[in-house]
Amino acid sequence: MKEPVLLTPGPLTTSSATKLAMVRDWGSRDTGFIAINRRVRELLLDIIHARDSHVCVPLQGSGTFAVEAMLGTLVPRDGHVLVPLNGAYCKRIARICSILGRRTTTLNFEENEPVRPGDVDAALKRDPSITHVALVHCETSTGVLNPLKEVAEIVARHKRSLLVDAMSSFAALEIDGQKIAFDALVAASGKCLEGPPGMGFALVTRDSLEKSAGNSPSLVLDLHDQWVNMEKTAQWRFTPPTVVVAALHAALEQFVAEGGQPARLARYRRNCEVLIEGMTRLGFKLFLEARHQAPVIVTFHAPTDPNYDFQKFYDRVREKGFVLYPGKLTQVDTLRVGCIGAIDEHVMRAAVHAIADTLAEQNIRLHETGAVRSRQNAA
Ligand SMILES: *Cc1c(COP(=O)(O)O)cnc(C)c1O
Repeated sequence: MKEPVLLTPGPLTTSSATKLAMVRDWGSRDTGFIAINRRVRELLLDIIHARDSHVCVPLQGSGTFAVEAMLGTLVPRDGHVLVPLNGAYCKRIARICSILGRRTTTLNFEENEPVRPGDVDAALKRDPSITHVALVHCETSTGVLNPLKEVAEIVARHKRSLLVDAMSSFAALEIDGQKIAFDALVAASGKCLEGPPGMGFALVTRDSLEKSAGNSPSLVLDLHDQWVNMEKTAQWRFTPPTVVVAALHAALEQFVAEGGQPARLARYRRNCEVLIEGMTRLGFKLFLEARHQAPVIVTFHAPTDPNYDFQKFYDRVREKGFVLYPGKLTQVDTLRVGCIGAIDEHVMRAAVHAIADTLAEQNIRLHETGAVRSRQNAA
């Protein structure tokens, strides 16, 4: 059976060239693998124009491993982290900080609103003991885009450090390491880079990484140690995810060939427009105001019709070839559809058709438009 299109924020749909790059074994000391690894680290830095100012430290594991490694390595034991909080991934950062035993203060916002820079400013003014701000760029639990540039300016003005979880925005939204001041940023192989999952990485200013020796309470998540070893031996400290590195290398080559970040953003924007247009026509309502929406993942209110059952709906759409994503909000029933991955607007149109057909088959009525009669209404 044809594999389904993953309309999820990672793992996501990868290209055939990326998949094919995994059909080979590599020894971790193989000179070919070492060259690929070096190239991947350079290409990742190029995306934020930071080959001279920052270093790239790759790390085994999913994205959260890299988030935890960044917090544990860069926040000293007597540090104090401010976490602006407007969703599940921000909450996860606060939870990691408290598990690591780092003093943590959260600054709460509504889930449907971006972080307000003025509030971050006030919090930093109020409490001079805060050393770090940990910001999620695109809060993937809703798709809301947080104002990285504005927050970075405020954090820099207060002479504190900024740590960024750019997991679902990196390579799609512009982040210029020369214009935006942060100590470290983390992302992973399996999101907007369109590689397979399994590897995270931190882009860290050389200065702050050099100063971070001995901070980490963990061996495997110590970015300083990983970096020092990789610089010295050109190898990973522990068994590297060789096939993931090789596939990410292939994905990065395609990223460059496509036209880099601006081209990727343009494709995702178009995916997002086609999706929102089609879903809105079916009667779905956006959870976020459009101006707060990143073109990464879109949250829709779930239908209120008693005939709607997420699992049944999901299963049927899956049979038609598309994998959706459940909502992640506590207060409102939602569903999410990703716009990222090796997919284009034609795929998005086909997905809207599959959703329209499923609504009709399961006799699910949407808010105002009533039952959906046929796919002709969809797009
Ligand atoms: C995907 C993601 C992560 C990491 O999640 P994993 O499941 O560990 O890969 C962290 N933060 C954000 C904002 C994400 O979108």
